[in-house]
Amino acid sequence: MNFLCRRGAAADAARRQLGLVPDTEVVVIGNGPAGLAVSAFLSGIHPYYDSLRGHPDDEVHRRLTRLEQSSLIDQDLSWYEQKMMEQADRAMGYLYDTLARPSIDAGIHRPSSLRWAANPCRAVPHVVLGATEPGGSWSTHDPEMVAVSVGGLLDLPGYPMAAWMEDPKSARERQPASVVAAYMREYPQRVGISGRVRSGTTVTRLEKTPSGLWRVSGVYSSGRPFTLLTRRVVLATGLMQQRMLEVEGETGNDCIVYTMQQLKQKMGEITTFQDPTVPSSSSASSAAPTATKPVIVVGDGISAADTVLFCMERGLRVVHVMRKNEHELRRLAQRLRSRFSVSLYPEYYNVFELMQGRQSHPLYERRVSAHVQKIEEGLVVLRTRTGMKEEPFSLLAACIGQRTTFEGVLPEEGGEPSSSRSSHSFGRDYRSEEDGSLFCVGSAVGDHYVRFLVGGAMHVAQQIVAEHENGRNLVVDGQEEGDTVIEEGDTVIAGQEPFLDADDGLLEISC
Ligand SMILES: Cc1cc2nc3c(=O)[nH]c(=O)nc-3n(C[C@H](O)[C@H](O)[C@H](O)COP(=O)(O)OP(=O)(O)OC[C@H]3O[C@@H](n4cnc5c(N)ncnc54)[C@H](O)[C@@H]3O)c2cc1C
Repeated sequence: MNFLCRRGAAADAARRQLGLVPDTEVVVIGNGPAGLAVSAFLSGIHPYYDSLRGHPDDEVHRRLTRLEQSSLIDQDLSWYEQKMMEQADRAMGYLYDTLARPSIDAGIHRPSSLRWAANPCRAVPHVVLGATEPGGSWSTHDPEMVAVSVGGLLDLPGYPMAAWMEDPKSARERQPASVVAAYMREYPQRVGISGRVRSGTTVTRLEKTPSGLWRVSGVYSSGRPFTLLTRRVVLATGLMQQRMLEVEGETGNDCIVYTMQQLKQKMGEITTFQDPTVPSSSSASSAAPTATKPVIVVGDGISAADTVLFCMERGLRVVHVMRKNEHELRRLAQRLRSRFSVSLYPEYYNVFELMQGRQSHPLYERRVSAHVQKIEEGLVVLRTRTGMKEEPFSLLAACIGQRTTFEGVLPEEGGEPSSSRSSHSFGRDYRSEEDGSLFCVGSAVGDHYVRFLVGGAMHVAQQIVAEHENGRNLVVDGQEEGDTVIEEGDTVIAGQEPFLDADDGLLEISC
């Protein structure tokens, strides 16, 4: 028997070497919120509709109550796409969000409509690889930055942040990035998936073997190489690479910063130039313009708003450069106003007013319809509607976003690595249209907020679980209740963390 096993193992190793046998069914690349959410669902942590808690939308309540015994992972939820009409592309993100946090956008905090169960027997073997600590970009944010989202909007499957913080109020409050990062770092261990998450691993190449498997190659942080064979790959690689202005004078210019951490580091040097009559920690309203050259902030998003605030609170003059014209800024402000209420985000509200020119402040000037053309010694050249304009600056903060890092890794038609992710297009099922065994989730595919990306991760898991279980069909509303696919006799995996009880939609063990 032992001999047979050994022969079997040797044959397996040989077949593996030939690229015929996968090491695991799925490799998830990226251990940020999206990768962790996919892993939780693939590990058998499944959400169920709880009809007792209900949902304010009658149709949602009616349909999901009929299939209450089936987890959302096992249901065909495509009916929600029709309901969402123009937002159908990301319908699963919206559906999950409204179930996890019914009525939150109306300012009403109802309990979640979901209950959670662990079905470890239905886990799909997988590995999560990630260059950072679990939590992805959250482990790299400025720890003092306060999250835009309140705690409840950053919940990962089955284990809300409020449960981790042991404080229900925290769901309604914005937390510092350091707290969010700690929650995400501990999440794998708390829900029992830490054995699947390999942090400090960077994927450098993805290629298809002749037998149709994926060969995932990379390096550990020690520099040691590794290779894994798998049937399916989920890209959850986020947007970890800084966008550049890509203008003359940018490369190697140490007066340009791209992140809040870099800005803070540089700020020491800047404040030494400051007029000593201006208190550096004075509030924006009482501050007067400094005699020094201003900080130029480029961009019109939240990071730009954060940077403007940060500088003004320190009494530094800001020249805010935005590509958008007045009309586009008004539309942007409308969108932002609907998302950022004055009560929860008073600081952003004021910056958005400044950006539109509806308020003024001695420390703030704006340049709209303006593009950075080139950067010279202490001077930036802007292309504006009225011609070229030179702006002197002490420091330039380019808050222009990030992009995916998957350059040079994905294969192209001819087998050569592509120069960007664009050689694959991912449809509303998050699956590559070019290769059905490749998926992409999270901010890498446009789901930037945690509240929405978890639903996308659930949709990917739905497809993978169904295929792994021999291509069974998802349960469609209208079928007999007997179609439920919850397995009897499932047992909790050894060494699994104890799950929390079902209150507030926390995870329970159902099998
Ligand atoms: C300043 C700032 C503030 C934000 N505030 C909020 C907020 O308040 N609320 C909110 O919901 N969202 C916020 N976001 C958006 C944020 O992107 C999402 O919350 C979330 O982190 C996206 O998750 P993700 O898993 O898709 O990607 P990420 O969190 O970016 O994680 C991607 C992971 O992929 C890994 N990776 C990439 N390439 C490779 C490779 N080749 N090999 C191995 N691993 C790789 C990275 O190391 C990382 O672990 C903010 C973003 C920024 C920049």
